[in-house]
Amino acid sequence: MSATRTVLLAGATIALFGGVAPVSVSGQASAPTAQVSVTMIAKPKGIEPGDLDRTADPCTDFHAFANGAWRAQNPMPKETQRWSRRAAGLETNRQQLKTLLAELAAKADRPRGSVEQQLGDHFAACMNEPLIDAAGVTPLAPLIEDINQVQDQAGIQRMIRRLHELAIPAPFVLTGASDYRDPASVVVNIAASGLGLPDRDYYLKSGGHFVDAREKYRAHVTRVLTLAGVDAVHAGKAADEILALETRLAEASLLPAAAADPATTAHKMTFAQLSQLAPHIDWERYFAEGGLPRIEVNVSEPAFVERLNRELEATPLNTWKAYLTWHVLESAAPWLSKPFALESFEFNDKYLGGAVAMKPRATICLESTEALLGEPLGRAYAERYFSPAAKVKVQEMVRTLLSVLKDDLRELKWMSDATRREALAKVESYDVSVGYPDAWTDESALVIRRDAFWANVAAARRFGVEADRRHVGKRMSRAIWQLPPSSPGAYIDIQLNLMGLPAGFLQSPAFDLAASDAVNYGALGVGIAHDLTHAIDALGQDFDSTGQPRKWWAQPDLDAFQKIGQCTVDQYDGYAIEPGVHLQGRQVLGEALGDLAGVRLAYLALERSMRVHPVPVLDGFSPEQQFFISWGQLRGAAETLDLQRQMVKSDPHPTARYRVIGPLSNTPEFEQAFACKAGSGMVRPPEQRCGAW
Ligand SMILES: [Zn+2]
Repeated sequence: MSATRTVLLAGATIALFGGVAPVSVSGQASAPTAQVSVTMIAKPKGIEPGDLDRTADPCTDFHAFANGAWRAQNPMPKETQRWSRRAAGLETNRQQLKTLLAELAAKADRPRGSVEQQLGDHFAACMNEPLIDAAGVTPLAPLIEDINQVQDQAGIQRMIRRLHELAIPAPFVLTGASDYRDPASVVVNIAASGLGLPDRDYYLKSGGHFVDAREKYRAHVTRVLTLAGVDAVHAGKAADEILALETRLAEASLLPAAAADPATTAHKMTFAQLSQLAPHIDWERYFAEGGLPRIEVNVSEPAFVERLNRELEATPLNTWKAYLTWHVLESAAPWLSKPFALESFEFNDKYLGGAVAMKPRATICLESTEALLGEPLGRAYAERYFSPAAKVKVQEMVRTLLSVLKDDLRELKWMSDATRREALAKVESYDVSVGYPDAWTDESALVIRRDAFWANVAAARRFGVEADRRHVGKRMSRAIWQLPPSSPGAYIDIQLNLMGLPAGFLQSPAFDLAASDAVNYGALGVGIAHDLTHAIDALGQDFDSTGQPRKWWAQPDLDAFQKIGQCTVDQYDGYAIEPGVHLQGRQVLGEALGDLAGVRLAYLALERSMRVHPVPVLDGFSPEQQFFISWGQLRGAAETLDLQRQMVKSDPHPTARYRVIGPLSNTPEFEQAFACKAGSGMVRPPEQRCGAW
């Protein structure tokens, strides 16, 4: 599935939250399962009192007050630029998953096809480095031999189809994707690919960095081919031919930013037109063997497919055979014996990616399991760390937030009625996926062995490709997850109008079933509300409620928004990270308004929820105080000055301190909750209070 419209929301270095979807509140008194009732009776957990710096005045610097002690007690680890309880939570997530997999791997002979068997055996096979090392390149030998045996053009194309069944993206990629202009349907998408260097500039530009990268790439290709048994002279010659072929393909490729733009790459055509565009490629056979219906296809880069057509005709057979062998090896190298894995790391991760050291084996094996067995892993993870009661609770929060947002939109003064109707329709059609899928896919037919790591990788990739192809020609399922349930990240899909909150993301400090509603609304609730506003703000105005690319804001709304936003621009222009270096209000406007709306809407949602479920005073803090402290404790973070300087130049988000302070200083309820006096640092004068949503 195309992910270009998707905004990833988590990770230690990016914003945590994306968008959300609403529902109406009433009658939502939850379907209390036994578990829910138990947690209702038990006294909930409040904020983290140990994180508070009680020497700081909440009315002067709330960032210091809310989590100054945590930052003082938890120095930033080396090679990190931002550190917070949330960032530490990402590491906890990775550790939980490694422990879980190690436990499952410890026991052999589980029932074949069970989630536990697949996960345990895949992890065990990955961790069994002696066996992987002993096998060397032999797991790939049959595939490489088949490439060697190719005698004609039809054979090259047959091997390309086989590579695609293993998700090896050379020389192009064919997947199911939602249609840009009819996003409810899934079409075949054909995208350019097949370059071993990151993008066309690396092949075509003359600057020192690019020249160096080409030399290193040539040496890398030569070494990998040599490791696979090709003699040095032939390997060097093959590397030259591969580089030359990839350079010709690069000439016809777009740069990554353009290639990722769904508007630039929307080129729908009939099957007949595709056959005319690239008549040398046997599309009939490709579609027949792949079980793909001959419906309309999207060719994201027609110029690339035309060039590929020519290269398939004109480039010698032996060059194509070397090229395909190389891409098989490059795709498999991280999963082969040490010499291959190390060579791949040195070039791809270290030289191109800037990595310092190879990740520990358990981390590599966790990532492989998560990428290939995402649902089984999510299932095992959720069983331990995200209960059905937690899912019910977050869904209830989402419904309340959506209903508050809808009520608020009805009252919004600056928006015209026509635009308001469009905005309400978007909120009505919004979907939020919480925790894990409502129904698990049956993956029991996937054969995972304890003693054959590459075979497992190949089988799981094939399984994934087949699943993807089955969607083509059907309606786009809104239940498809774009991240596995175990992921500590979250996402919003701007075009499809949906948000995904995986179980791995719905962990403390963002969400905790044992915590009070005030704490959860102050953290997760603000984040969800913030992301919901992206569906209707400057980010979401390009797509309507059905996902059609159509600008639905009217000019008077744009003018009014511009005027209202100036207050926030001025506010953030006034914030400095060091003497003379200020935030750029215009650059952070969308995110600052999102934070402001997030705090306001989540506060209203908490009030609404407290009518049914009151929150007690905890650790001496009122529900309102818990709410604001929770926001400060989630969002507060230590950031290096270096990082802050980079953010001020180009990040659409304000720095952590101002994400905490900015919205609260506009909020009268905050002022009341902490009995702040007019004129204190955290209280903006009434005539300077900002907000759009
Ligand atoms: Zn945002």
